[in-house]
Amino acid sequence: MWKSDVWKSELKKNLACPVEEKRELAPLSTLGVGGRSELFVEPTEMRDVSVLFQIRNKERFPLYILGGGTNVVFADGELKGVVLSTRRFRGWRWDVEDTVAILEAEAGCALPSVVSHTRKEGFTGAEFAQGIPGTVGGAVAGNSGAGTKSMGDLLEEVTAIEEDGSVRKWKRGEFDYSYRHCSLFSSFSPGHFLASCKMKFRKVPFTEVEQNLEVFRRARASQPRGVKSAGCAFKNPRGDSAGRLLDISGCKGLRVGGAVVSELHANFVFNRDNATATDIFRLIESCRDIVFQKTGVRLEPEIKLLGFES
Ligand SMILES: Cc1cc2nc3c(=O)[nH]c(=O)nc-3n(C[C@H](O)[C@H](O)[C@H](O)COP(=O)(O)OP(=O)(O)OC[C@H]3O[C@@H](n4cnc5c(N)ncnc54)[C@H](O)[C@@H]3O)c2cc1C
Repeated sequence: MWKSDVWKSELKKNLACPVEEKRELAPLSTLGVGGRSELFVEPTEMRDVSVLFQIRNKERFPLYILGGGTNVVFADGELKGVVLSTRRFRGWRWDVEDTVAILEAEAGCALPSVVSHTRKEGFTGAEFAQGIPGTVGGAVAGNSGAGTKSMGDLLEEVTAIEEDGSVRKWKRGEFDYSYRHCSLFSSFSPGHFLASCKMKFRKVPFTEVEQNLEVFRRARASQPRGVKSAGCAFKNPRGDSAGRLLDISGCKGLRVGGAVVSELHANFVFNRDNATATDIFRLIESCRDIVFQKTGVRLEPEIKLLGFES
């Protein structure tokens, strides 16, 4: 257990950015659910993140890192600890040498901007991320992707703030990534904070980029639009699709309170009528139980459920 309140005054005393109390979290996520965070910070200087990690290393209070909020559900009520938003870290640098470009982007840069910039410049690599909302930091932490491509394929280097607040550069090969997983980051106990990363792109004819984008655009056509969601609720189990398993198990249209499973794509859970975070959580739990009973497969949530008891 963390020592009550010492850490709060430590943060207020030592951080340059404002330390807000009881910040509403629902407006900060695409699902639009969740309660309030005990403390909320949105630093503009990386030094503040280091200081925060140093204090947390001593006081062990709960810490949640928030990027674009497109893959998270914060629990209802008061979320104990600190929510650290990356949205103000938006610096980036684009360097081209012959047919190779390196984009160094800070955590809070929008992933869609990476897609549009590389497209405009005629460089390939980011097309898979077309239609994935959120930030670079969130995408690297969860190794977001589509089809067989993912963020890990682009990474040359990751600059992370370590648990003790120090800064370390991790070269490609010094960390692992696999389907929706990067070894440096965990949603439940932030060991590292992604400060920035270097991504590598290759120059190709503009038409090639457009063709690749079209392939990913078509694949996305079966997904619901204009709804409050956090993308796919579950990870695909090896060799199968979570959407297919949910569909054959009869989950489409299932509802708990204001939370509904899409009729179009069974792996999308959305907030239709003022759902609470508990509605979303219970619906995800029900779907998981139903699929397990019908198919014997235990699905693993892709959405990060933060601050829930179990
Ligand atoms: C309509 C829609 C479509 C989607 N399609 C896809 C898809 O095709 N493929 C896919 O993979 N995802 C998809 N998603 C899910 C989501 O957009 C991605 O996972 C996205 O990359 C998450 O980024 P974010 O900034 O919103 O992260 P958040 O939701 O804010 O956070 C996600 C996780 O990353 C951690 N995190 C965030 N920033 C950092 C950081 N700087 N350092 C350490 N940890 C950090 C958080 O603590 C949390 O555990 C979709 C979502 C929506 C709403």
